[in-house]
Amino acid sequence: QNRIISGAAWEGEDQDVSVRPQRLAEYIGQEAVKERLSIFIEASQQRREALDHVLLYGPPGLGKTTLAHIIANELHVNIRFTSGPAIERAGDLASVLTNLEPGDVLFIDEIHRLSRSVEEVLYPAMEDFHLDVMLGKGPSARSVRLDLPRFTLVGATTRAGMLTAPLRDRFGVIVHLDFYEPADLAEIVKRTARVLDVPLAPEAAVEIARRSRGTPRIANRLLRRLRDYVDVRGNGEITYEMAQEGLALLEVDPHGLDVVDHRLLEALYHRYRGGPVGLETLAAAIGEESGTIEDVYEPYLLQQGYLQRTPRGRTLTPLALERLGWPPLAPVQK
Ligand code: ADP
Repeated sequence: QNRIISGAAWEGEDQDVSVRPQRLAEYIGQEAVKERLSIFIEASQQRREALDHVLLYGPPGLGKTTLAHIIANELHVNIRFTSGPAIERAGDLASVLTNLEPGDVLFIDEIHRLSRSVEEVLYPAMEDFHLDVMLGKGPSARSVRLDLPRFTLVGATTRAGMLTAPLRDRFGVIVHLDFYEPADLAEIVKRTARVLDVPLAPEAAVEIARRSRGTPRIANRLLRRLRDYVDVRGNGEITYEMAQEGLALLEVDPHGLDVVDHRLLEALYHRYRGGPVGLETLAAAIGEESGTIEDVYEPYLLQQGYLQRTPRGRTLTPLALERLGWPPLAPVQK
């Protein structure tokens, strides 16, 4: 279940807060995103206004929660945390909102999972900073308007397409986080190694970066597992050789692919002659859930050009064959 190359957080994994960058300057990579945010943050401070609502979207583990923290730190305000599934009723949201201080950041993770009735409470709160509360029941019920402090909503979601249009339209700033370049990931693991006080050879950092699927959370996770490996099998230093050995033990190959990726690509090649094959069929063939393939495995395989999504299903690309050293497929006889 807990695949090492999944970008989603493992239970309790991110509790080591010291590893999280606290300021924009410490946040590595995503230069365009940082530049835009720093301008908006500075402008809001100059005008002494709350920052416009920010929507962060991108695959898990790319630093959305970290950015939300950083935004609050840069604005010198408090941040409150909640998530779409945690806000069950409209009243839950109302109590969170009425407890905010002026300028505060409210972070809602997995914001696409808010229920419809909760979303409807959020609209006027985001737009005009008020809540409409119903008092009483039946014919004597009346609606009372409560004013809220001006706050900044930071919403995070893995896919912007899962948000309803009215909710998406209420964000003034929409930020897309994409997979990191290997050079940035190498800097991230070097930084984490310094924080955790683990000796890490520069070539080992590059090797971890290459195998981390463009995802800081995976890079940090591989670093931690390698630290275990060298503490037991080595002398505590992550050298290039030890990194290679340890990563092989973790079954992450030099392309950052694991056994499930290989099963998926092999099924496409051998059983379906490169596709196209539907997601459900492919999922059944390798015994994984289609949702897991879509959220965990496929984004990186698509981004790296191993797979293509076509209207008729998934296909294997010539690049995949080349990288994996597989002979080209002969055209199907008609
Ligand atoms: P998300 O909310 O997108 O799932 P997180 O913000 O929880 O991702 O980030 C996962 C981990 O990766 C965090 O522990 C954080 O320390 C690290 N991380 C993410 N982005 C960066 C970055 N740009 N620079 C350094 N570390 C990062």
